[in-house]
Amino acid sequence: MLDLVPLFLDLISFDTMSDEVSTTYPSSEKESEFADKLVEILHSIGVSNAYKDEYSLVYAHVDNNKEKTIGLIAHMDTSPALKGGIKNPRIIKNYDGKDIKLNDKYLMEVNEFPFLKEIQGDDIIVTDGEHLLGGDDKAGIAIILTFVNYYINHKDEFNYNLAISFTPDEEIGKGALHFDIKKMKADVAYTLDGGSIFEASYENFNAAHATLKIYGVGVHPGSAKDIMVNAAMLASEYVLLLPSEMVPEKTENREGFIHLTDIKGDVEEASLSFILRDHDKDLLEEKKVIMQKALETLKNKYPHGKLELTIEDDYRNMFDYFKNDMTAINLINKAYLNSNVKLTYSPIRGGTDGATITYLGLPCPNLGVGDFSPHGRFEVVSINQMEKMVEILKELFK
Ligand SMILES: [Zn+2]
Repeated sequence: MLDLVPLFLDLISFDTMSDEVSTTYPSSEKESEFADKLVEILHSIGVSNAYKDEYSLVYAHVDNNKEKTIGLIAHMDTSPALKGGIKNPRIIKNYDGKDIKLNDKYLMEVNEFPFLKEIQGDDIIVTDGEHLLGGDDKAGIAIILTFVNYYINHKDEFNYNLAISFTPDEEIGKGALHFDIKKMKADVAYTLDGGSIFEASYENFNAAHATLKIYGVGVHPGSAKDIMVNAAMLASEYVLLLPSEMVPEKTENREGFIHLTDIKGDVEEASLSFILRDHDKDLLEEKKVIMQKALETLKNKYPHGKLELTIEDDYRNMFDYFKNDMTAINLINKAYLNSNVKLTYSPIRGGTDGATITYLGLPCPNLGVGDFSPHGRFEVVSINQMEKMVEILKELFK
């Protein structure tokens, strides 16, 4: 038998941090070992076909002689931002909504983390102040495994077959790199990854990145008049030609941006890196045009400099898929309605594996798991929300 909270505490005691600089897949051996553990758990509850593939993705199926299959996906790695593998997390029963002292060094204040008010009265789990909790995304894994355990013992209650996948390297942007929809064999799927269970998402950014290379003309500064073209100066001038309000620090909700992520240079050579983001794909195209126009302005002003701008697309907003096929959304709406839980949708200001999986051909919105302020020592999960999510999955498969 599997019990949600002990299972969750067991899963977060394993360090599965992904590694940004690694060149292997998965990025750390620890993830691969954790995948073995999950396969073992699945076998122990009766899912005998569970396996780890050559990329350390875990797949499993519970056939129930139904026409359609719903898939559930969660990621195994934790953020490289802080070490995981926490051995002494703290359970706070019936949380009183006040500031939480994590240890002698760290106090978690309600005015700094206003979500704490939303989980007042819940049983919650907090860190020891030295590790991240790992609820992102082991809350998702624990919810899925708890549900699978129930499903396999109550098959006659459900009208959909069940497919499961656990993926590595989500936190370093490679969670869906080797995801195989043929191995998943589902009609719709959901990533269980993220915050409050009262919010879900089927919108994310459209994303592109750009690189500008500038080659100047370097001569002795004493005799530079009308000859020198200073690449570093052009680089800063280019940045000032872009709209100053269209940056991450001044935008929210569905507002997009052009974000300068790196700049370096000298007289001879400079290079700038940008990321471009917008929920609306036409507005993303407009941002590309803005960058092109700024380039032309600079080229005309400095005909002796050489400027090369390249812009490449990264990921797409999954909403462009869902606006034509709401099946996955309708199913989840019905599950929430039948569970008597109010659900709102919010656009993700980032990417999500679900978007990549959606464009591979498997529609995949994201659901919450009750995990808050992830990627650091102030991470918290609500046990009540995790338990509720297991109940909502039961309604989803009915
Ligand atoms: Zn996550």
